[in-house]
Amino acid sequence: MLASRLYGTEDVRLDEVPDVEPGPGEVRLKVAHNGICGSDLHMYFQGQLARPEPFTIGHEFAGVVDTVGPGVTGIAPGTPVAVRPFLRCAECDRCTGGLPHLHAPMRVLGCGAAEGGGLAEYCVSEAQHVFALPDGVTLEQGALVEPMAVSYNGIRRGEVEPGMRTVIFGAGPIGIGVLLGLRSLGVDDVVVVEPSAARREAIGALGAAEVIDPGAADVIRTVMARTGGRGADVVFECAGVEASFVQSIVVAGARGRVVILAIYEQNVAFNPSMMMMDEIEVRGALGYEDGCYETVIDLMAKGCYPTDGWVEHIPWSGLIDEGFAPLRRGERMKVMVDLP
Ligand SMILES: [Zn+2]
Ligand SMILES: [Zn+2]
Repeated sequence: MLASRLYGTEDVRLDEVPDVEPGPGEVRLKVAHNGICGSDLHMYFQGQLARPEPFTIGHEFAGVVDTVGPGVTGIAPGTPVAVRPFLRCAECDRCTGGLPHLHAPMRVLGCGAAEGGGLAEYCVSEAQHVFALPDGVTLEQGALVEPMAVSYNGIRRGEVEPGMRTVIFGAGPIGIGVLLGLRSLGVDDVVVVEPSAARREAIGALGAAEVIDPGAADVIRTVMARTGGRGADVVFECAGVEASFVQSIVVAGARGRVVILAIYEQNVAFNPSMMMMDEIEVRGALGYEDGCYETVIDLMAKGCYPTDGWVEHIPWSGLIDEGFAPLRRGERMKVMVDLP
């Protein structure tokens, strides 16, 4: 079978690799779509390689189960599924203590795990990590479950309730996922801060209450004016730069929460007394705790995750020229590779 494997910085090759077969407790799927993520760009352009040998990339994917291994019940060949790529064990404190998504060191399909990834004709996954897509949820949406679950986990970490005032920094796919997840919970007061005009337009069309261009408006003043000077209850930092980090803390109100969903390429300088003064809490959010996949898929079936205006499709042969390269230039939002 064919697989896109990463060898080093700016070196992905379409390789013929041995066919994979499901073992006990595993299923094999024929991959239909695989989304390209910011972490793929980090690995490809910055050489942040998860391991020294070439490995199959792609961790946001969905497909149709074609073979089930011994002992697998409840999932039959022909079932469309989304795959949860974060692997876990059954022994460590985190995996047995309710935090399997924080198993360390992290092992993720498509990010260095020896088990493979989504940019391949076929992928084998443990049955516990495949989630059937109900009627009305497309395979395209199935490949979006992964990033939307990341966003949803961030919303859970923010302990958001209807009626709260929220701000999102960064309108990339994770920021969009936060907006759509918040809207599904009845949180309508969502302000988005985003420098790119194309991204502002896309997230505005998806239902943001107000979209701020930080190059043209004073972000802090605008949020404070909108909230009657109280500040936001929960802020989602999905941009990953110093300005957005610092402003996230400043726009949070008394005992506000800031949820960090971004990867930072550089350190940031800030004064922690900003957190002390208003008793601001800063929390990280990684991957998805158990339950996020199921919830996102249910919400997709209810129509909460439209894909118009922000998801584009490319053929496998266009992975670099139509995918990685324009994404890096900020010209596209979510690019999905259609596998044959
Ligand atoms: Zn990702
Ligand atoms: Zn573990």
